[in-house]
Amino acid sequence: MCPVDRLPKTAVVDLDDTVFCTRERERMAKGPDGQLHWATFMRPEYVASDTPNLAVIAEVGKLARAGYTVVYLSGRDDSVRQVTEEALRRHGLPQGKVVLKRNHQVLEPDLEWKLARLYELARDHDLVVGVGDRETDWQAYAALGIAVWKVKDGQIVERSAVILEDNNA
Ligand SMILES: [Mg+2]
Repeated sequence: MCPVDRLPKTAVVDLDDTVFCTRERERMAKGPDGQLHWATFMRPEYVASDTPNLAVIAEVGKLARAGYTVVYLSGRDDSVRQVTEEALRRHGLPQGKVVLKRNHQVLEPDLEWKLARLYELARDHDLVVGVGDRETDWQAYAALGIAVWKVKDGQIVERSAVILEDNNA
C-alpha cells in the first residue's frame, strides 16, 4: 500500500466581475466605438478603485473557513499584481496565490490561458470548485471536471454542485 496523497482541496476564483465590479473602470476604458482599450482598463489606479462584490466575497470567505485553499485566477496582467493583492487584502478576501497573465501571455485567449493554468494547478491542488462570471471561466472549470459557480451582477446565481452545507440556496 502507498500513502494517500492529500492535495489541498481548492477553490479557484476569478477576479474581474466575480469578486470585483469593473463597471466604472470599463466605462473609463471604452472608446467612442465601444471597444475596450486594454492598457486603460489595466491602469493600476483604475484597477485599485474597483468596488467589491460583497455577496461573492462572503461566499469565498465561507469556502476558506471551511478549509479550502483559495487560488485567484485572472486574465488581469501581471503589471497590476500589487494593486490586486492590496485590494484583496483591503476587501477582506482570504489569502491565496494570485495567478495573473505574464506580459508575454496577455494576448493569449482567456479560455486557453485559464485551462493551461488550471492543468498546472491540478498537479498539486485538488480542484473542487471554480467561481467566475464568464462563459470561458465556466468552460475551463467544466473541462477540469470541477464544480462551476456562476456569477452574474455581483451574485452567485448558479451552482453546478453544492460544496458547503449552507450553500444550498
Ligand atoms: Mg471575470
